[in-house]
Amino acid sequence: MSKPGEIVLEEITKSFGNFQAVGVVDQVIEGGSYCCMIGPSGCGKSTLLRMIAGHETPTSGRILIGGNDVTTMRTGERGTALMFQDYALFPHLNLKDNVAFSLKIHGVAKATRQEQAMEMLERVELAELADRMPSELSGGQRQRVALARALITNPQVLLLDEPLSALDEFLRLKMRVELKRLQDDLGITFIHVTHTQPEAIALADKVIVMDHGIIEQADHPRVIYDQPHSPYIARFMGGQNVVTGTIAATKDSHVVAETEGGARFNLPAKREMSVGDPISFAVRRDKIRIVSKAEQDMNTLQGEVINVEYQGTFVKVGLKTAQDDEFIVYMDDHEYFENPLKAGDAVISEWSSDDVCHLLGSNNSSGD
Ligand code: ATP
Repeated sequence: MSKPGEIVLEEITKSFGNFQAVGVVDQVIEGGSYCCMIGPSGCGKSTLLRMIAGHETPTSGRILIGGNDVTTMRTGERGTALMFQDYALFPHLNLKDNVAFSLKIHGVAKATRQEQAMEMLERVELAELADRMPSELSGGQRQRVALARALITNPQVLLLDEPLSALDEFLRLKMRVELKRLQDDLGITFIHVTHTQPEAIALADKVIVMDHGIIEQADHPRVIYDQPHSPYIARFMGGQNVVTGTIAATKDSHVVAETEGGARFNLPAKREMSVGDPISFAVRRDKIRIVSKAEQDMNTLQGEVINVEYQGTFVKVGLKTAQDDEFIVYMDDHEYFENPLKAGDAVISEWSSDDVCHLLGSNNSSGD
């Protein structure tokens, strides 16, 4: 039995003329969960969201919501509501009438729709401003009206296309907490498209990372962040360094990898591997130590400091190593300020074999 609000995407594709914007996507989003879709500009996030909302029809495949095939159903019939990025409020209507608008379209009597609109405005803490016009609101307030307007239709699924992108950093963090609270209270499915990795990680029960129209990885945020499948996910989500090399030796439960520059790394063997196989792995930036003298003969990488950025709770140190990618280390701020570094310093970074994560493929491109 499907749960209300469960979304099943079955072999969905979408082409515009000869251009395939989405394809092939197979995914189940659990009813009542908070799902964030993230990926670079043009990767197909909004197109997928718009197909779930019914604003686009898939070229092939099926969409089920709560067990019903909604693929060709009209927007208003499928139990979804879409909150637009620019909020799309009616400038000539006050807040109460903005929120009540869709009930009016559905022929709900004036007294009932105004009562329901007020209840919804109370939920988003804007009841006192019910008679104001949208132009008399702050960005955060406008966003809450748009939420109330989407929720009044009592959807099983709320679709949010970059809902926080128009807000400043302070308001964005505040509204992020409010969105999560609202989703917890309502218990409906939220699908939230974002460009911001920390936003996806903070909010979601499931993060879907897309690239070139396909899903690269869909998992709990901790898995996405800590155990990215591919170099693409590790680089895109951030917080990790990607190291590439070849297998130089295999021993029982460990393998030794060697980079082109001759650095050697000991890491747990995760699958059948032979000497000469290419390998790439990720090491979390916050699990790396910077030392002046290597304490171990493996899992160290020499580098030259190229930049240092104080981030408040930690210090971000960029190193140039023999690897192509910039190698970044997050240092504890107290530790850093005991021995500050400057551009040009030669340092050694080292880490434990337990803090590495194997990746599939060995280059930049997705799908490798
Ligand atoms: P962004 O983060 O920049 O909003 P996105 O991941 O949401 O990007 P989409 O809006 O889904 O990307 O677009 C995916 C691709 O499909 C893009 O290359 C876009 O130009 C193309 N596309 C989207 N809508 C249409 C359309 N109506 N006609 C033709 N191409 C389209």
